[in-house]
Amino acid sequence: MDCIFCKIVEGTIPSTKVYEDDRVLGFLDIRPSAPVHVLIIPKKHIPSVTEAEGEDFSLIGDMHRVAQQIAKEKGVAESGYRLLSNSGPDSGQEVFHLHLHLLGGEKLGSVNG
Ligand code: 5GP
Ligand code: ZN
Repeated sequence: MDCIFCKIVEGTIPSTKVYEDDRVLGFLDIRPSAPVHVLIIPKKHIPSVTEAEGEDFSLIGDMHRVAQQIAKEKGVAESGYRLLSNSGPDSGQEVFHLHLHLLGGEKLGSVNG
């Protein structure tokens, strides 16, 4: 499959991993937009939350558990952080493999104007 994040899961494209288990991977965003910018993905290819079904929703729960752990490890759990997931054209989604952005380490701008 021609999916950059599946290639990161396979290891054919390198990444700086910060978390890995049998279902979920966390790695640094290549173009960070905050001092802490981690991407958290399921190893299973799901294009976005729009296509999620059945057991995928427990995987999405796992991704949030991993996000909580990474936020603690990166030292932003207390200062605060943002989790966001783009879905589809209007969101600006660039990589069509479900991912959570974990952003923190500075005062973040508003997402609602
Ligand atoms: P989206 O706009 O789809 O929500 O976000 C995709 C994110 O993936 C972007 O923040 C972008 O910097 C990141 N990204 C794209 N290609 C790569 C890559 O090859 N490696 C890593 N680590 N991040 C990537
Ligand atoms: Zn994929």
